Amino acid sequence: MTNDAKQKLRVVIVGAGFCGLTAAIECQLRGMHPIVVEAYAGASSHGDLLDFVPNAGRVFDSWDNGRVGEALLAAGVNRAKALDFYNQDNVLLRSDPWPQGTDLKGIFAGHRGAMHEIVYNYANSLGIEMHFNSKVVEYLDSDKERGVVIAETGKKILGDVVLACDGPKSLARSQLLGLPESRVNSGYAIFRAFFELTDEMLKEPLLAELTKKDEDTTRFWVGEDMHGFIYTWNQGRDCAWVLTHLDDADIKESWSFPAKKEDVYSYLKQARFPEVWNRVVALTPEDRMVDYKLVWRDPLKTWLSPSKRCAVMGDAAHCHLPTSANGACQAVEDAATMAICLEKAQGDVPLALQVFERIRFNRSHVIHQASISTRNIYHKNNWTLEMVKKHPDSLVMPLLDWVLDFDCQKNAEENYARLAEDVKSGKTGTIEELSLPAGGNYDSMNLKEEDNKAAALQKVV
Ligand SMILES: Cc1cc2nc3c(=O)[nH]c(=O)nc-3n(C[C@H](O)[C@H](O)[C@H](O)COP(=O)(O)OP(=O)(O)OC[C@H]3O[C@@H](n4cnc5c(N)ncnc54)[C@H](O)[C@@H]3O)c2cc1C
Repeated sequence: MTNDAKQKLRVVIVGAGFCGLTAAIECQLRGMHPIVVEAYAGASSHGDLLDFVPNAGRVFDSWDNGRVGEALLAAGVNRAKALDFYNQDNVLLRSDPWPQGTDLKGIFAGHRGAMHEIVYNYANSLGIEMHFNSKVVEYLDSDKERGVVIAETGKKILGDVVLACDGPKSLARSQLLGLPESRVNSGYAIFRAFFELTDEMLKEPLLAELTKKDEDTTRFWVGEDMHGFIYTWNQGRDCAWVLTHLDDADIKESWSFPAKKEDVYSYLKQARFPEVWNRVVALTPEDRMVDYKLVWRDPLKTWLSPSKRCAVMGDAAHCHLPTSANGACQAVEDAATMAICLEKAQGDVPLALQVFERIRFNRSHVIHQASISTRNIYHKNNWTLEMVKKHPDSLVMPLLDWVLDFDCQKNAEENYARLAEDVKSGKTGTIEELSLPAGGNYDSMNLKEEDNKAAALQKVV
């Protein structure tokens, strides 16, 4: 081993989702030695529709002289003009300019698998050490051994710090933080699909509106206890749709739980959604549809292990419902912030991790919480043109300026020294008091008292 390799901080990263890959890329670019350990066999082609907005998109844009951002843009929605909102009667309630149309950079929407592959390829091109087919069964967090144990082989991968980016069902939460599983059924699940439209499918008259050669379409429908999106892009060739529905069957939490068309039709009928939905579902190959359980997990009181040398991040720390419209972006913010803290702490891992937590905690928490309130606003109102006029800021994506315009890397650079001083001086207080303010709220969406989380969970648990 060269002297250089010996000195590099070994960062063991569990999970090669967007959080883990971003952490690995940012650590590598900052001169550390990240080691990614992932249970899947390779870059996962799973998933359907995923949106990144500029608070995360600007991190991707900063890579490889903008080439990663260009590839992400080329692979997904890049010619949409508007995001159109409809009610169940197919009345157009509002039409917001699609941000790319207003020249806003850093918006990447499209097929999760395609975007994941682009980020994975970039990580690979940087020569990042990645171990696939390697399920972690044990986390080690002692001064003697810090790292992970891989299933079957029992191989240990050790380092100076462990970043558990192991997703919603995180093993690290129990093993590193000692927390019991706190899963609460949110009461909803989401049908999800991505498929390519064939020439034959494009003949369907009801789809003509959605499958334009020169324009991508992004549409949103809202009704009682249900909302859904249909996106088309790539000259109307690629289609993804998602439909949040009541989870009365209490399905399993998995990215591969199959969806049955008869169930989708039945929910569409209950919510009286328009015919175009039935047609899109009819065209979707059944093996391209999943039903994904939307689980709620209460916010954690800390993201750090007692040694302060291991952290949970991304969905492992704060698993959003899709209605925050920012869960993946928050995972990317975590990852980019962590790399800056590790770099600045120059080997003092507990310092880095404590500053990381204080930078991220409140902002992440407020955005996480909004996912329930927003869903209730969508689902618990009878949306008409009159209502939209009366509450113009309510039927919107919860992507307010303070969320979108945030530069997480600049924020970390600017606040690191002050927060590091707080840690070193032993400043006391709750994690909320010690952390940076969230920087905003969702009051403009007119959240009502009855829309709060307690009310929603009481109803559905
Ligand atoms: C297969 C899949 C499909 C998805 N599809 C969509 C989608 O269509 N739309 C959407 O909005 N969001 C989707 N998501 C979720 C979305 O990507 C995440 O919410 C978001 O990007 C946050 O990412 P994360 O890296 O924190 O967590 P995740 O994306 O969940 O990544 C966690 C990673 O950790 C790995 N992992 C977990 N436990 C272990 C272990 N013990 N050992 C080793 N590795 C482990 C998992 O295999 C996974 O790759 C999907 C996630 C996955 C894993």
